[in-house]
Amino acid sequence: MSQPQSLNQQISGKKPGTADSRSPTQAQTVALDVGGTAMKGVVLSGSTVVGYHRWPTPRQEGPDAVVKAVISAVDDLLTKAPDARAVGLVVPGLVDDKAGTAIYSENIGWHDVPFVKLVTEHTGLPVGFGHDVRAGGLAERTFGAARGQDDVLFMPIGTGISGAMFVEGHAIANKYAGEIGHLDVGSGELCACGAIGCLETVATGPSIARRYNRLTGSSIEGAKPVAERMAAGDPAAARVWHEAAENIARALAAYVSLLAPQLIVIGGGLSSAGDTLLKPVEAELRRMLVWQQVPQLVTAALGDNAACLGAGIMATQALP
Ligand SMILES: [Zn+2]
Repeated sequence: MSQPQSLNQQISGKKPGTADSRSPTQAQTVALDVGGTAMKGVVLSGSTVVGYHRWPTPRQEGPDAVVKAVISAVDDLLTKAPDARAVGLVVPGLVDDKAGTAIYSENIGWHDVPFVKLVTEHTGLPVGFGHDVRAGGLAERTFGAARGQDDVLFMPIGTGISGAMFVEGHAIANKYAGEIGHLDVGSGELCACGAIGCLETVATGPSIARRYNRLTGSSIEGAKPVAERMAAGDPAAARVWHEAAENIARALAAYVSLLAPQLIVIGGGLSSAGDTLLKPVEAELRRMLVWQQVPQLVTAALGDNAACLGAGIMATQALP
């Protein structure tokens, strides 16, 4: 992984290796973010990242294999950090942070996995546990793009879309909250969730590619080639991209009308498009929000590492 050095300094203002692992504020911890394709791990000394690690998620082998792989990755991290005093773990899907359980993930296929119990029994260490997107929001708000902001929506757009919501400084931890990807934006298309018209049917990487392929008979994958073709003057690419932006704005306009965030942080794979995504979303949002305050729109600062770093914060919070 590329940026541990700069991130270290961003998080703690200290260079790696300056921490005293025996002081409570500099205790060593490990953290793991379980994704659909990869598991990302960090070793932390206090809030300083001293190592990044990555493993494939064996999703094709079924949910039990993924649970085993999670335990094995935690073991691997603890081998690298034998003085670690807590574990942070974040997972996708429907997650009960307080009960310590992964309730359901359509992507991975597991049901009711009591991760906190499993990892605590296996390692003998306290475990900070939660939802990957809420963890990403926590990291962005602690030392990323939303630092110091009380009313924030962190919305990663990748193969799915969901939101971590901060209202008047409080993180909304309700396990059913934040499903902005399943707001009906009127697309008329059937969503993987079974409903019709969800934002995810028009604005995720795979759905942008699918809509472009349907219009043009192409067989591209992901949103990036659509953005590239739009830049090269392809009108079909511009149309599909603009429909995605317009519908993201439609969902955000509903959120803004209800909760009035000062700041919206767009993360996930699609955020790498930068202004190519933000500018049309912002223009549509301004058009739709006639009198409401239009929030600032930015891309995430921590990129792919946000959820993993959020897991690190949760590990620190779990320290005895
Ligand atoms: Zn849906």
